[in-house]
Amino acid sequence: MAVKKFAVTPGFEVGGTVFKPEQLAILGRIVGDNAKIELTTFKQLYVAMEEDRLEEVQDELQKSGLQIHPSGYFTKSLIACNFCKGAEDAGLDVAKALDEMIAGHEVPSPLKIGYAGCALGTSEPLLKDIAVVKMRDTFDIYIGGEAKGLKAKLARLFISGVKEERLIPIVTGLISIFQEHGKKKEKYSKFIERITVEALRETVS
Ligand code: SF4
Repeated sequence: MAVKKFAVTPGFEVGGTVFKPEQLAILGRIVGDNAKIELTTFKQLYVAMEEDRLEEVQDELQKSGLQIHPSGYFTKSLIACNFCKGAEDAGLDVAKALDEMIAGHEVPSPLKIGYAGCALGTSEPLLKDIAVVKMRDTFDIYIGGEAKGLKAKLARLFISGVKEERLIPIVTGLISIFQEHGKKKEKYSKFIERITVEALRETVS
């Protein structure tokens, strides 16, 4: 029997990415004895299970309030902070709207997009491919973080002082450019080096 993998997340709220006990109970009960559930570094669970019951299982997980996303070469769910400064100050609504627009798009290599509700950045946004940091009433966008390998590097400031209404168009614009011009398996940080930050800035801003 073929095995298929998909991603599961409860989304995020004030307090972070929090599964309800009943969601985990349903997940454990319905995926089957041979399934594997992997904890990823990007706040999604990966479920690998037999393909024949996939639809039925995903339906039930969605009914319990969980989101289902593709695994592999896709944009991940927004890797957000815990919104400890409160929903309004830390920008929970805008983060949710951004997550809805950016998760699950096919890209040349897996793309991690981070969000921090303030400059303390406890969600480690500068280690993500693209990062949004809320700064009082505007947002700063960083690009090119690389957490993996011995040449790990911090993302660089791409645009600062972005107003809320421009945030989603800029981030989705960055994803579209990567979809269009990225080479298969090209890391986002390498893509930026090849395309240049200046050219990207001219295209999306
Ligand atoms: S980034 Fe700021 S708002 Fe978000 S959890 Fe950390 S300290 Fe709180």
